[in-house]
Amino acid sequence: MADNNPNPEVKCIVNTCTHWIPGNKCSAANIDILNEEVGKMSKTREQTECKTFAERRGLANMIGSADNVNWVGFAEELVGTGRQLNPTVTCVVDTCKYWHEGDLCNAEAIEVSGKNAKECQATDCATFEYNGKPSKNEKTQQAREKGEKFK
Ligand code: SF4
Ligand code: SF4
Repeated sequence: MADNNPNPEVKCIVNTCTHWIPGNKCSAANIDILNEEVGKMSKTREQTECKTFAERRGLANMIGSADNVNWVGFAEELVGTGRQLNPTVTCVVDTCKYWHEGDLCNAEAIEVSGKNAKECQATDCATFEYNGKPSKNEKTQQAREKGEKFK
């Protein structure tokens, strides 16, 4: 991601996710924050979700998610070079006051909540704040749910 693109620091307490590591960090290279339901664009934080959540089910599950691991950040975190392990954030929740053109997030930091979650819907972006505006992002969300990549 280019330097002038905003990207928040991510704190995550979803300890049941395969990407979660102690210290409440996320080892994914990128996370997607979505509305839980298309047609019901979020007005509360409970209506958001971390779509990148994958329930940890042992080693096979971890290897299965290996294509979305921030390996460089992971290694640097382990050897302590002082750089933070932090995913990029792609967010379609344009009803949030921190939403930024290009499906980015310009909050300084976000917290993903949903301790002991067993599915994406049980996770939330706890930093969400409703901006009071209607959403223009339904189509992007639908495409994302079908597994298409963001532009
Ligand atoms: S729930 Fe989302 S933010 Fe938290 S560890 Fe999993 S992928 Fe990362
Ligand atoms: S704070 Fe708002 S814009 Fe940022 S990831 Fe959360 S819901 Fe998306």
